[in-house]
Amino acid sequence: MDGTPKFIGGSLALDFHNTASWGAAKPIADNLLDSYGDVVSWALEAEAIAPDYARDLLRTAGEDPGGTAAALTRILELRQILHDVFTPVGEAQGVPPAALEALNHWLSAVPLTLTPEGERFAWDWSAHPDELVSVVWPVVWSAAELLRSSDVDRVGGCELEGCGWLFVDRSRRHNRKWCQMEVCGNRVKARRHYRRASNR
Ligand SMILES: [Zn+2]
Repeated sequence: MDGTPKFIGGSLALDFHNTASWGAAKPIADNLLDSYGDVVSWALEAEAIAPDYARDLLRTAGEDPGGTAAALTRILELRQILHDVFTPVGEAQGVPPAALEALNHWLSAVPLTLTPEGERFAWDWSAHPDELVSVVWPVVWSAAELLRSSDVDRVGGCELEGCGWLFVDRSRRHNRKWCQMEVCGNRVKARRHYRRASNR
């Protein structure tokens, strides 16, 4: 990975999950979220938060280094929770109850409200720039909406070992194998080619 975030998951929650490469259970490489500032930058780029909200969060963070370190720990815990929930979903397996409980715990802290949008309604949330973990609240409800929607049947994982990225498979035949063909697809092909060549 070249260190810039990719938005190939088809869901904010899965894109957040994909800010690291994963072994079977834990992130193993390419962690893009080394600091709280990295999380804010990612959320901005993902258009999960507005620039003025990002500025307010960074001001709060600047005033409270201890609280910021604790918030980063919790935010990375959320990423782990998403891994524990959506990886089995992608394999059509049951979600461990503890993982779902942990996600529900996050969800219960998000101050969601409904607001009219044209003739319909949209989710809104009150600003809490003093609450540093609020930077990932949009990720939490994205996860909840994905689990509630029919797209949940289309969640899949990249087949390359050591990638572990997740996506909503919107291919017509539901046969997407890679997060990005030009990255993991080509790596797998190269490995196969090497294996064939060395078996000769
Ligand atoms: Zn991949």
